[in-house]
Amino acid sequence: MNSIIHLLPDHVANQIAAGEVVQRPASVVKELLENAVDANATSITLLVKEGGKTLIQVIDNGLGMGDTDARLSFERHATSKINSADDLFRLHTKGFRGEALASIAAVSHVEMKTKTEDEDLGSHLIIEGSNIVQQEPCVTPVGTSIAVKNLFFNIPARRNFLKSTTVEQKHVIDEFQRVALVHPSVAFKLVHNGSELFNLPAANHRQRIVGVMGARTNEKLVPVKEETDLIKLTGFVGKPEFAKKSRGEQFFFVNDRFIKHPYLHHAVSSAFEGLLKDKAYPSYFLYLQVNPQSIDINIHPTKTEVKFDNEHSIYSILRSSVKHSLGQFNVSPVLDFNKDSSMDTDYVQHKTRAKIPSIDVDRNFNPFEAEKESGYFKKNTGSFQSKSTANWESLYTESIDGDDTIMDIEVESEQISPSLFQGQEKTYQSSGTFQLQRKYIITSTKSEMLIIDQHRAHFRILYEELLKNITAQPALSQQLLFPLKLQLDSNEIRVFKILKESLVNAGFSISELGEDFVKINGIPNRLPESETSILLDQLLSDFESDIPDSGFDQTDRLAKSLAQSMAIKNGTLLQKEEQTELVNLLFSCKEPVLTPLNRLVFVKQSAADFDKKFM
Ligand code: ADP
Ligand code: MG
Repeated sequence: MNSIIHLLPDHVANQIAAGEVVQRPASVVKELLENAVDANATSITLLVKEGGKTLIQVIDNGLGMGDTDARLSFERHATSKINSADDLFRLHTKGFRGEALASIAAVSHVEMKTKTEDEDLGSHLIIEGSNIVQQEPCVTPVGTSIAVKNLFFNIPARRNFLKSTTVEQKHVIDEFQRVALVHPSVAFKLVHNGSELFNLPAANHRQRIVGVMGARTNEKLVPVKEETDLIKLTGFVGKPEFAKKSRGEQFFFVNDRFIKHPYLHHAVSSAFEGLLKDKAYPSYFLYLQVNPQSIDINIHPTKTEVKFDNEHSIYSILRSSVKHSLGQFNVSPVLDFNKDSSMDTDYVQHKTRAKIPSIDVDRNFNPFEAEKESGYFKKNTGSFQSKSTANWESLYTESIDGDDTIMDIEVESEQISPSLFQGQEKTYQSSGTFQLQRKYIITSTKSEMLIIDQHRAHFRILYEELLKNITAQPALSQQLLFPLKLQLDSNEIRVFKILKESLVNAGFSISELGEDFVKINGIPNRLPESETSILLDQLLSDFESDIPDSGFDQTDRLAKSLAQSMAIKNGTLLQKEEQTELVNLLFSCKEPVLTPLNRLVFVKQSAADFDKKFM
């Protein structure tokens, strides 16, 4: 019988293997940067176009390669880094498999120029889908420049699978940051589509972290240091009060490799126990050095997992060192969740003379009465703007023209809920409402009782309204007397730029966008000023960790985040008229049943249900 098994042609085998190493542009970035570091470069530049989909180029001033090595480097299992299996346990380089360049070359167009110090001329290679189509001597500085173009040109299915430029760019930046954070003595530069995103001079660890994460990071860092027989630990943790609502700033490096390790992450998180606000994640930049023989990194090249021999001991050491650092730097629990904003002295104080404080007692004050009884909801729905708010008038501006804005507000409310002002045509006929535990609005139709979650209902109402505003018309914006200045790190600035247009349409007015700050002089008119920075912080970190692909997704997510923050909270007392208003607005929504996050807004009980209960 004829044999039916045959060896795959090289280019097919290479493509298959390449799939393992090269999943997206960021994988190429990681491999090329690590090769440059392995080649002892002191300065590395990464040039990227369209999130790496059209170009990824790494230029280093490292050792370079001679003619033969230059050609060999693209062969599978060609490496200068190990000779025998034993070497795997003495690794001090990033690479060791000799697979990366072969894999990259199998699925892209590669151009390399490289030269060693000893040679006068370097080599210039052009490789397309594993074939060397040109190699000739060239004039080039010592070091290596590799340009990878048209990734996955020969695997359309993969190419189509790539995400938007924004998403791929985000992955590229992640990889860049990981490599840059662990090699502070190497200067790094990242240029995307011609604009310089990072320019990091050689520095120490702390300076590098600040360079990568933004100037604001410096004051947040608490050093961690510990040395035992098992591990040497250095690095920093973020002070708890700066903890973010995203996981973006958590970095473990083991023997100079970025790793993810849920168990060790838990060790750090548990050291922060009791110090963090709800849903906040600690940031950390921790560098662990362990005996290479005590870990197994001989795993999948794109994975970031590591197996330790002594996991439990490392857990305890990590936890106690972080705890110790937090304690030593006197980082005590932050309990003032609702700091009184009147305590903030943000304006020029020195011009005003000091006054002798007078004692002012509100004899009618009753601590058991709700603080926000006087119509919190009014301020936040806009629908209740009465003429008595006339002195606020000047603070409202329409982004498009300067019409009487109070009028506009009413016109707008009419559009949202025609029912409200044309009593006859109400889609929903309320027969009185009742608030239960400052959380539920109870109302009834002819045959049913409705129990409505007030926060969720308002969330739905605001969401639909915002969606319309962001996509169709600029929203009303509330002019701030004193512009709000937010310090942002480089990632946040990047996300902010992506979101800028949508934010403007949602009612934010941005007066200045600097390298590490943004000045906001107008906010959506229902957004309490005191919540603005928290909201934006949250918004940026949401988007930072996961940038939506399409414009619509972006608008949708923005509307959800904004609406959720702006919606009345449970625990807020609502006046009768506000309750009715809420119910009316809810039932003029397109989708009143569910919140934008698909949670039930209300439940129903029919009279028949009650009949059964009373049987
Ligand atoms: P690995 O890094 O696992 O050895 P690669 O395919 O990434 O495998 O690289 C193959 C070889 O090419 C390396 O071992 C190294 O000798 C050489 N090489 C790759 N990139 C560079 C570079 N930027 N400078 C000098 N030599 C390089
Ligand atoms: Mg390599």
